[in-house]
Amino acid sequence: MKKLYIETLGCQMNKSDSERIAGILSHFDYVETQDEKEADLLIINTCSIRQLSSDKAYSQLGVWGKRKKIKPDIKIGICGCVAQQDKEKIKIRAPYVDLIFGTHNIYELPDLIKKIENGEKVCAIRDKAVVCDQNEYKILRKDSVNAWIPIIEGCNNFCTYCIVPFTRGRERSRKPEEILKEAQNIINNGYKEITLLGQNVDSYGKDLKDENTSLADLLRKLNKLDGDFRIRFVTSYPSDITDDLIDAVDECKKVCKYFHIPMQSGNSRILKEMNRRYTKEEYYNIVGKIRKRFPLVTITSDFIAGFPGETEEEFQDTLNSIEELELDYSNTAAYSPRIYTKAAKMTDKFIPEDIKYERLERLNEKNKQACLKSNQKFVGKILRVLIENKTEKDGKIILNSRADNNKIVHFEDNSKSVGDFADVKITKAQTWCLYGEPVE
Ligand code: SF4
Repeated sequence: MKKLYIETLGCQMNKSDSERIAGILSHFDYVETQDEKEADLLIINTCSIRQLSSDKAYSQLGVWGKRKKIKPDIKIGICGCVAQQDKEKIKIRAPYVDLIFGTHNIYELPDLIKKIENGEKVCAIRDKAVVCDQNEYKILRKDSVNAWIPIIEGCNNFCTYCIVPFTRGRERSRKPEEILKEAQNIINNGYKEITLLGQNVDSYGKDLKDENTSLADLLRKLNKLDGDFRIRFVTSYPSDITDDLIDAVDECKKVCKYFHIPMQSGNSRILKEMNRRYTKEEYYNIVGKIRKRFPLVTITSDFIAGFPGETEEEFQDTLNSIEELELDYSNTAAYSPRIYTKAAKMTDKFIPEDIKYERLERLNEKNKQACLKSNQKFVGKILRVLIENKTEKDGKIILNSRADNNKIVHFEDNSKSVGDFADVKITKAQTWCLYGEPVE
């Protein structure tokens, strides 16, 4: 047996890829370890959404490179978005790396691993993914309650700030029968939540011309699988949310009433500059439609502060939108120029760093207020939760759970265990979580 250590940076898609990488390598006698010092093979699965994440990858490689000088037999690999975009740079900056593989090459690992074990240095970067049935290999899932299923990878949208279409390629949907098979395995193995993943999950099926399918169809099919489990999907592109999808979420009892819909800016001019295919008003319409249909829904979003050319007034529109739309939570980031993207070339419009980070601070403050306000709405309400783990505090067992609407809920109940569903009456709201008591 050989020891494998994987460091994963970035999004849920990367985390899901790492589970698949560990699964494939387990067929070749690699066992995962949490202690990188005892690993025979070290892999960093990278993210390049922001400069900071790319820098982290190189700094980790530097640490491992020093270790390899002392233990020359260890192998070092890098994969993910930085590997996909930076292969030549990696060869120069980290010549001790044994394996560079891109986002489209994960299922070639069986061949690649044999090569590096034979002492070869390997760089495998494809422009297009090889189509294969992902159910052929094991998946070593980290969580015991929630399982991710990537259903579509890549993106066709080319938002002007985003590197994803360059690192993950164009949209590719997995066949519905392959997804259903993976979902059935997950349920049979006792998982209670399935999260369908995609950079643009609502585009699911558009590229599967023979299948005539969509995310709404897939939800309906998954909802029919037997078992006590629930389904989520992320991330949604605002103008791709169809009425049929909203109907499907409504009809399917196992589908959580929760939408993650990045708005990115509350100003229509900036949205156009970002090449987002909706205006502020259109985004408001979508949110209004969803809120009307599902009274306890939560809607979360993403926002960028300091996009090139953004004026103070335009930034104010973003702050106002969070308030007016009563968004339940937002991920926030300062604009970070990414190589190959259109916005990175708008250098004459770049916002000075101090202004950008000052805007980010105000954005975070607004988000904090919105989050507390959203949580307070649920005091007195009964939410159905899934218990994800438990902790002990002052001699008491606290169950940490997540409601169908994605709110974090803590409560005490000695009769319940991790993986159980429960109805909880919310008694207290804090900024980032709720507290409650079990409903008898
Ligand atoms: S839709 Fe999302 S993943 Fe696609 S280009 Fe835009 S920001 Fe990137």
